[in-house]
Amino acid sequence: MRPVFALLLLSMPVLAQVPARDQGLLHLTATPNARLHPVPVRTVAFQAGFWKSRQDTTVRASIPTLLALLEEKGTLDNFRRLANPDASVPRRGPLYTDSDLYKWLEAAAWSLAIQPDPKLEATIDRTIDTILAAQEPSGYLNTWFTGERRSLRWTQQTSGHELYCLGHMTQAAIAYYRVTGKRKLLDGSIKFIDYLVRDFGPAPKQPLLTGHPELELALAELYRTTGNRQYLDLAAYLLSGVERERRKISNRDHVYLFAGRPFTDRTQFEGHAVRALSAATGAADYDLETGEPASRRTLDTLAADLSTSKMFVTGGVGSRASGEAFGDPFELPNRQAYTESCAAIAGMLFHHRMLAATGDARYADLIERALYNGINSGMSSNGTLYCYRNPLSATASDRIRNPWYDTCCCPPNLQRTFAALGAYFYSTSKDGLWVHLYDNSTLDWHLESGTPLKAQLKTGQPWRGDVELTLHPARAEEFTLYLRIPSWSLKTTVLVNGQAATAQPQPNTYLTLKRTWKPGDKITLTLDVETRLVYANPRVSEDYGKAAVQRGPILYAAEQTDNPGPEVFDLAIDHRNPISAEFRPALLGGITVLNHKGLAFDSTPSLYTFQPPSAAQPAAITLVPYYAFHGRGPANFTVWLPIR
Ligand SMILES: [Zn+2]
Repeated sequence: MRPVFALLLLSMPVLAQVPARDQGLLHLTATPNARLHPVPVRTVAFQAGFWKSRQDTTVRASIPTLLALLEEKGTLDNFRRLANPDASVPRRGPLYTDSDLYKWLEAAAWSLAIQPDPKLEATIDRTIDTILAAQEPSGYLNTWFTGERRSLRWTQQTSGHELYCLGHMTQAAIAYYRVTGKRKLLDGSIKFIDYLVRDFGPAPKQPLLTGHPELELALAELYRTTGNRQYLDLAAYLLSGVERERRKISNRDHVYLFAGRPFTDRTQFEGHAVRALSAATGAADYDLETGEPASRRTLDTLAADLSTSKMFVTGGVGSRASGEAFGDPFELPNRQAYTESCAAIAGMLFHHRMLAATGDARYADLIERALYNGINSGMSSNGTLYCYRNPLSATASDRIRNPWYDTCCCPPNLQRTFAALGAYFYSTSKDGLWVHLYDNSTLDWHLESGTPLKAQLKTGQPWRGDVELTLHPARAEEFTLYLRIPSWSLKTTVLVNGQAATAQPQPNTYLTLKRTWKPGDKITLTLDVETRLVYANPRVSEDYGKAAVQRGPILYAAEQTDNPGPEVFDLAIDHRNPISAEFRPALLGGITVLNHKGLAFDSTPSLYTFQPPSAAQPAAITLVPYYAFHGRGPANFTVWLPIR
């Protein structure tokens, strides 16, 4: 027997043994190179606090209003018209609208895991029926390449988004299957993918190119869900680039698509940011399953490229509007930052895989940076306005928050992220429990030994540093508790049942506490949320001589709404004066604002002079969390301020 088949036979029963509802956000139980295993979405319940209110808004306001908009804009009718070919309803919207509905479905599915809702579940079931009624007997399903465009199927692989839509359909199907056990949509996805497996792939099959990477990660998760190795092999084929197609692709498209040549040839992030990060996420999934050294090296190279030269301080990604693309290293413009919400989310998905593979706290830190800032900014506090771009500076005339985009990728992407968010907070490993992020929450799951484990976390995060974690294993048991010490917490104290822990907490690592844990054991963590100035590498020319202000995980911005004096673009930080924090319960849902006696430049009438700029005028500066920019209507704002 060839070893690969032996592996398959060994792994399939393990996959099959885990009921759908007990599969983690990523089902990594039998994944050979996963050190960490994310918990199922349903096992984490946020309690009153920062993310609870975000998640409630997503479920209560965001998900239903977006469905109404998807109806209004014809996204569902695009499916209905295929089931009723006599009707003369025209197809509406750009060619990728199917994916918007699939992402919405995924968000709605995860929301049922945290908040069961029979009415919403019935709506989802009806929507799935509508979708599947449009599926052809072959398995093919796409509302654009039908009718007069039928002959164009698979002829526009660089731009057609056929595989992209299928990837999101599959992710929605897996989510709904894990939450409800219902597999109708999953079977529909499998039918389409089985058709691909049969007809496409290495010669003599037809070539297939991933014009917008996304299907790769869905295929990896489908492999984990079904145990069918063919799905992982198809992902491998897509990541390998396609020799026959490759010759037809321009060099520009190699860069822009981040596809069409072997993933392992990549040495940097370039091209379309969402495509590149999605390809890397799919490759990271593939690497978790296979552990090929070449792909591991590429992933490490790309991760370093991103974190050392191409990520904004908000965790946003994508420097150029042209091509929605990465820029050169250190090309991180503030006003022109493209920073699509989907790109920040794709970065989080990439780092989530890297964290699962390594247990390296630096990846959790990057997740936190993006989540609390450049992702969180993407949805308004009432859950009905969304950012496509999340720049680090804008004026009152920039209309950044909108209820709808014809390219409506970001709104449902934000929703599915917030709906499933609890599963990013905790993982298990063979030897214990990992806590990655801190918010008021309960975990109801088990250790990998099988011992049931409940945990309760109480905290003032992100505004305060106090964290209290109470563990309730079903019986006393020795295991390791891994507590993430954030990069920003320079001085952390840890007590176990009131006694100082022997291990010394270091920023940007996991503190490991191995002992026999008993029901009711309490860990008290005091994180250091002192307000700090952040400086950029001097090669970031736009930020040279400036600082950003960070307190805990939250990045701040000066917005004109709170600063009625000089224009915020004339304000400067006075390094001699402290920055004080003040919690304002009535403002923007309850936030900590920062106050500072800074300076204001004299607005000189000359564009260029022989005198250095003077900043003699004192000016009171108030800073609010960046994620809330334009939360009270459009206004000038900036993250980076000159420092004098
Ligand atoms: Zn988007």
